[in-house]
Amino acid sequence: MKETTDKTHQLKISNLSKDFGDIQVLRDISFSFSSGTSVAITGPSGSGKSTLLHIIGTLENPSDGQVEINGTDPFKLSEPELARYRNAVIGFVFQDHHLLPQYSVLENVLIPTLAFEQEADAPQLAQEIIRRVGLTDRISHRPAELSGGERQRVAIARALINKPSILLCDEPTGNLDTTTAGTISDLLFELHRVERNILIVVTHNLEFAGRFENRLKLTDGVCTLETVSGEQSKKK
Ligand code: ADP
Ligand code: MG
Repeated sequence: MKETTDKTHQLKISNLSKDFGDIQVLRDISFSFSSGTSVAITGPSGSGKSTLLHIIGTLENPSDGQVEINGTDPFKLSEPELARYRNAVIGFVFQDHHLLPQYSVLENVLIPTLAFEQEADAPQLAQEIIRRVGLTDRISHRPAELSGGERQRVAIARALINKPSILLCDEPTGNLDTTTAGTISDLLFELHRVERNILIVVTHNLEFAGRFENRLKLTDGVCTLETVSGEQSKKK
């Protein structure tokens, strides 16, 4: 397995703004995070949480300001370079699992590795990450044969297989019942402790948000950052 501890992940957002025509969604946002950091993004519906996540994930361009990931400005890359870069550096988990229905758990998890010809050990990596999300006995199942929580576990495994610097999750527990949501949140933190990537999660659930070291709150396009020490966040 590739070691993750030897590389330092870095995300730097500087004076970022985003507007869609007349609507200014994000205004002059700056923050910076490195390896092992967990961040919750909260804020009312329509406050720009998903937009911010999409910009960090290089799926959407900022209107102004800069994004720097591991020292690279991804928006300066050509389209094909950016697609490759995104696949290597960013993992995504959405509210809906976005799994391909015709493929098995193993095949779904392998999809992000297909861009890298050199990854001969991809099937072993996939089996290992599937084991870590607790789905070894479901490895040949198709998404329709899984529960909602199990599908989200597959989505998490798929997002982590390329060992991304940044794992972005948009309301990953939004469609799950309270108990399943709790186990998925636990899993995300458990994997994050080992992977030491930058974990950024949009959530409406304040109890879930309370478990993160950092909380970014979006209100009227402006972002406030609250950082709590490990001890305080554990008490919550
Ligand atoms: P949240 O995830 O916090 O609910 P979003 O980031 O999805 O909020 O949306 C923030 C605002 O930006 C909303 O007013 C939404 O309508 C608008 N918006 C988002 N994406 C687009 C788009 N592609 N074109 C126009 N407006 C958009
Ligand atoms: Mg959203």
